[in-house]
Amino acid sequence: MRRIFGIETEYGITCAAPGSRPPLDAEQAARRLFMPVVNRHRSSNVFLANGGRLYLDVGSHPEYATAECDYLADLLAQDRAGQEIFSDLVTTTNQQLAADGINGQIHLLKNNRDSQGNSCGCHENYLLHRSADFMGMADALITFFITRQILVGAGMIDEEGGYHFSQRADKMYDPISAATTRARPIINTRDEPLADSSQYRRMHVIVGDSNISEATTALKVGMTIALLDAIDCSLTVSDLAIADPMNAIREINADLTGRAPLKLKAGGHLDAVEIQNRIYQRVMNALSDAGELEATRERVRVGDLDPLELWGRTLKSFEDEDFRAVQTEIDWVIKQNLLEQSARRHQVPLNSPLIARLDLAYHDITAAGLAPALGNAGLMRQVLTREEIESAKSNPPRTTRANMRGRVLREALRLRRDVSVDWIHVRIDESKMPTVMLGDPFASEGEILDKLLAELQERS
Ligand code: ATP
Ligand code: MG
Ligand code: MG
Repeated sequence: MRRIFGIETEYGITCAAPGSRPPLDAEQAARRLFMPVVNRHRSSNVFLANGGRLYLDVGSHPEYATAECDYLADLLAQDRAGQEIFSDLVTTTNQQLAADGINGQIHLLKNNRDSQGNSCGCHENYLLHRSADFMGMADALITFFITRQILVGAGMIDEEGGYHFSQRADKMYDPISAATTRARPIINTRDEPLADSSQYRRMHVIVGDSNISEATTALKVGMTIALLDAIDCSLTVSDLAIADPMNAIREINADLTGRAPLKLKAGGHLDAVEIQNRIYQRVMNALSDAGELEATRERVRVGDLDPLELWGRTLKSFEDEDFRAVQTEIDWVIKQNLLEQSARRHQVPLNSPLIARLDLAYHDITAAGLAPALGNAGLMRQVLTREEIESAKSNPPRTTRANMRGRVLREALRLRRDVSVDWIHVRIDESKMPTVMLGDPFASEGEILDKLLAELQERS
């Protein structure tokens, strides 16, 4: 059992100058940030030698989409690599701003809300078999995604100074649909599988928060993969479907105990902790009964982090009403401790400007961000090594078609040839070789790759 997945992250951008007006607005800052990309590739929408995609979409949110992965360890490294690539671009841009005499520093925020209340997203993509009854399991999947926020939310302070699990939850307006922007559906069924459409579909999940803690990202994606694997082993969770999901998502977000009663479609009430507990137990049992548990565990393990173990441990923290067992791994817990300690020390409420700045610094991925210091102080678990992140900046995951895309792009760069690629196509410009279609996301090498590399070398 293999499955392809990828994450897209939209970043918030600001240009700040302490004590004076921001010298650049978000759009100007984003354009500045992408200057080195445009100079090198003549475009602000490029695929990289690590197989990922870097682009500036409408609305000035820089975005990075990871290459397709089938091991979570690769996905986590690719996601962090995107963060580093942007952080490096910010460093270069800030030096340039200083050289141009512009007083201001660009910050990139891996969060889901900007100061105007706009939302940026973190999309998860999972390959599903078309044979699975997608619409039949949609209600159950929505229940899973709505309750998942108690574990993997990135934490949010509201205007009154209340603390919530998720930044994204209150911005969702529709459980399932085919549009992405206005309706904000939790699961998007837009049928672009980026694979053989007679066999597969791509589930596009836009309800999740962007995570800073690597362990939380691993839990978010790892638990979802485990559930999908279990469904492929004929697990059903449809009896847990929530009656009014869009109301429930807000109620869950507003109650940090996880114990707000939620009405089920089938009648009766359950709270988010209980729903997650049941899903967790059933997933573990279904995988175990099918003899697949260890295989799934291997695909989602990242170094010595086992996301399935973390799933159970975080749920236990709710039972214990004590989160110390996950206080270096779960984003909303790490951030809550940080913000509350600072609020106490400075004797200010959580909704004060000082704490708001600290909150932003938690999500800042530039040199001004807090994550590295939290890691060094032992307050945030570091799952990946420096070398793994560094390597993923220029190397694609080796077990998916991203390996072919990445190797062609790297070779083209070395030989100064132009190639045009997207997720499923590769074309060598100024060549007689027709466009190559990489329709199978699981195919990582083979004759076609050899031909592409040979063709590149031929004409240089
Ligand atoms: P938008 O940005 O408008 O949401 P999108 O989701 O179609 O568009 P991208 O931003 O390019 O497109 O991101 C595509 C994501 O899907 C990447 O993270 C990629 O790794 C992943 N992906 C590619 N092929 C597959 C596949 N066959 N199954 C699952 N995920 C895939
Ligand atoms: Mg995208
Ligand atoms: Mg997307």
